[in-house]
Amino acid sequence: MSRQISAPPYRGIVFDCDSTLATIEGIEELGQGASAEVRARIADLTNEAMEGRLPLQDAYGARLEVLKPTRAQVDRIGDLYIENALPNARELVSALHFLGKHVGVVSGGLLAPVQHLSKHLGIAPEHAQAVDLRFDDNGDYAGFDESSPLARSGGKLDVLGRIAENHGPLALIGDGATDLEAAPVCARFIAFAGVEARPAVMQAADKVCREADLAALLPLLCTDEELLRLADHPNHSGLVQAAQSFSPTQ
Ligand SMILES: [Mg+2]
Repeated sequence: MSRQISAPPYRGIVFDCDSTLATIEGIEELGQGASAEVRARIADLTNEAMEGRLPLQDAYGARLEVLKPTRAQVDRIGDLYIENALPNARELVSALHFLGKHVGVVSGGLLAPVQHLSKHLGIAPEHAQAVDLRFDDNGDYAGFDESSPLARSGGKLDVLGRIAENHGPLALIGDGATDLEAAPVCARFIAFAGVEARPAVMQAADKVCREADLAALLPLLCTDEELLRLADHPNHSGLVQAAQSFSPTQ
């Protein structure tokens, strides 16, 4: 089946989380306070997975086994996501909701922190999908949801395919190889290079956003008519102005 690439309008907009909605990689942040050796190992595993050199399912369990995060450490990541959210993230979500769009988050990160950020941005927790962890009664790490499609390569494609059935045509915004894998079921895949510029992902994307500000995504997600509706609304006109301050993206 060939891809149905199309210009706006889109009925659904789906964001990746790490290095897209927030500047951090949540699982790497879990390694802060660990030894330099552990941190370097985690960063290597993340990069190998994001660049498509290591199957995600192998990287996933390996990183968590190295880290063994407690429930308290995982909850802290949710706060860090909010502290490190990209400029205009809340404003963009609000504008997309105003236009009647489904807005979701699909992440290979950890479910509780991803839902915490999503809620902060005005996205319903049930529209945020990521990988759940298990803890024992002491709050110590006891494994992850190995049945989650988001903990394996190609999983985002399956999850986005289901969202596209209900909310398509979809636009997907993300920085990593796992995001690119989901492009075949999306009408537009935007490589978000405002935090991490990954050449292989950028080259294969339909559009590239190089700004570290989510306002710059607005013209890539909306029709001219939708932009005019936003510009006419007092709650959203500032976002349209912010978007216009960026030079046109590819
Ligand atoms: Mg990412």
